[in-house]
Amino acid sequence: MSERIRPLIAGNWKMNGTSAALNEISRLRELIAEARRIAADILVCPPATLVHRAAQIAQGDAIALGGQDCHASRSGAYTGDISAEMLSDAGARYVILGHSERRAGHGETSAEVRAKAEAALAAGLVPVVCVGETETERAEGYANAVVGDQVTESLPDFAADAEIVVAYEPVWAIGTGKTPTIDDIAQMHRHIRQLLVDRFGAAGESARILYGGSVKPSNAGEILSTPNVNGALVGGASLKADDFFGIISAA
Ligand code: PEP
Repeated sequence: MSERIRPLIAGNWKMNGTSAALNEISRLRELIAEARRIAADILVCPPATLVHRAAQIAQGDAIALGGQDCHASRSGAYTGDISAEMLSDAGARYVILGHSERRAGHGETSAEVRAKAEAALAAGLVPVVCVGETETERAEGYANAVVGDQVTESLPDFAADAEIVVAYEPVWAIGTGKTPTIDDIAQMHRHIRQLLVDRFGAAGESARILYGGSVKPSNAGEILSTPNVNGALVGGASLKADDFFGIISAA
């Protein structure tokens, strides 16, 4: 069943891009308009400062916009933070949560990611919840256990009509040019699918599981045709519209 899920190709610009980068949204729009058929949903998550203007340039449904994090509370004395409602108000439809750079750099726990995901759902955003093991955890044979715990603890219960996306991103594959073997990707996505189905039933069967970590136009075709891989979360290769479109085309 999951093979028929429409893929989601999501770009994570991280802390890259000022106003000039909005040209990449215009270029992406052009490439999409010129294409005969687009077989994937497309999401760009720029820095929060660009979400509103990017949404205005994207105009319409072809390119969805997303945030890269949100606070678990709706509002309050949280200097420097941004709420899910604010992202939604700026034009976002998705929000990346629990990226390994936030888990490592900001000490985010799975419980915090779950609270943020609850806030995102309450604001009408689709949470893209990231999970993934470190190189040492894989080498020591704990990859399944670590990812399994993250999936279980980071995902909130959600209503049948809501949507949640899981992104499997091995930490050691992010920004390194290294990728797991296709067999390893298939095995981990099968593992995540089983956890989702066991917990959420039909909603778990249809939830998208993205792969992230050094996806580029040259390896996207093979990765995206792996069972239970329902799209990609792309960092570096999403910064240039032409590269990102190469990955979209592979879907
Ligand atoms: C990411 O940061 O989510 C990511 C997958 O980065 P990259 O594609 O650059 O490895």
